[in-house]
Amino acid sequence: VVHYLDNAATTPVRQAAIDAMVPLWSNEYGNPSGSHRMARAANRVLDDARDVVAESLGAKPGEVVFTAGGTEADNLAIRGMVEIRGGTPVCSAVEHHAILDSVTDLGGRIVGVTTDGRIDLPKLRSVLQAMIADGETPSIVSVMLANNETGVIQPIDEVADVLAEVAPDAVLHTDAVQAMSWVDVAAAASRAQMISISAHKFGGPKGVGALVVRDGLKLKPLLLGGGQERDRRGGTQNVPGIAGMATALAITVANRPSEIARLATLRDHLIDRIVARIDGVHESGVGRLDRTDTSSAMRSHKTANIAHLCFEDIESEALLFLLEKADVMASAASSCASGAQDPSHVLAAMGYDRGLAQGSLRLSLGYITTEADIDAAIESVSSSVERLRSKGR
Ligand code: PLP
Repeated sequence: VVHYLDNAATTPVRQAAIDAMVPLWSNEYGNPSGSHRMARAANRVLDDARDVVAESLGAKPGEVVFTAGGTEADNLAIRGMVEIRGGTPVCSAVEHHAILDSVTDLGGRIVGVTTDGRIDLPKLRSVLQAMIADGETPSIVSVMLANNETGVIQPIDEVADVLAEVAPDAVLHTDAVQAMSWVDVAAAASRAQMISISAHKFGGPKGVGALVVRDGLKLKPLLLGGGQERDRRGGTQNVPGIAGMATALAITVANRPSEIARLATLRDHLIDRIVARIDGVHESGVGRLDRTDTSSAMRSHKTANIAHLCFEDIESEALLFLLEKADVMASAASSCASGAQDPSHVLAAMGYDRGLAQGSLRLSLGYITTEADIDAAIESVSSSVERLRSKGR
């Protein structure tokens, strides 16, 4: 058996989503842009999916643009807005690289976070004020709803308050890719004018996502073509993938309250048991843990599914190697896709020193997670850390 605790990286596709997709590949394969009855059937599949996505995000169906995943939605939000409005994009220092690199590439500004991982609101205010005083226009501000490494939830309403006060013309975008399963996105992002999601984080297929673009907002498409998605994203839509995303999303939203409660309990137990067995454990956004720290209240600003820990005197790579041998799949969330040993930009922004950041471990839970997975992780993490430390001494 594999104990898969890397659900923030991706999730298995829900059976209901597979069942919804299969006929759309094999028998009902019309192109939604056509006019005959098979084409019209495909278009109805898109309409139904658009309704589901819109409702779960607190948007209107016409505001939903289907994309090939979260990265495309994020790129479209930043570049599509800057190319039409001009000005300078702004984002937080803990964004996913899909946002961070888009903003940097366009000469944008990065705003730091406090040690608990949340955006520094006074800093955001002063950066925006200084830009405007210098004659620069902050055209889009992007702050993620939940962080992919630490699970820290950002105060989007308070960000919206700052924009209303000092930069009312700036568009607010939120990357809700990691939030969908753990946060009521429709409520939390109600003041965002653009919202990104990605299907494979909540039991849908990879390579499918959406960007909400509120009515009246103009956007330059990244992909020019047949005018699909109301001229906001050219290219024949991935009809099966989109149907799979909508099916997975409906289940995710329906189960969300009970899953948050179930997984927060498992997550707390996981961390409490590890801390009871070993010393020198730091939890991101919370600080150094000691054996009396058992409250989940201190994690109220974090999603229910992530246990993000840094171990003193440990190298993540060695720890992950031992965990994999014990069939526990986890991640350090600190190395980039190239495999380079760069410490995480998220932990660096939170003020972690390099050594501690190099001992980071992300265990991320999901709808498939069971108590047996948690028990296996407690056992293998505790014994692996003990083993590595005793070798190091
Ligand atoms: N934004 C966040 C916060 C993410 O966690 C991810 C996925 O890793 C992405 C964007 C990119 O989404 P995708 O993998 O669908 O391109």
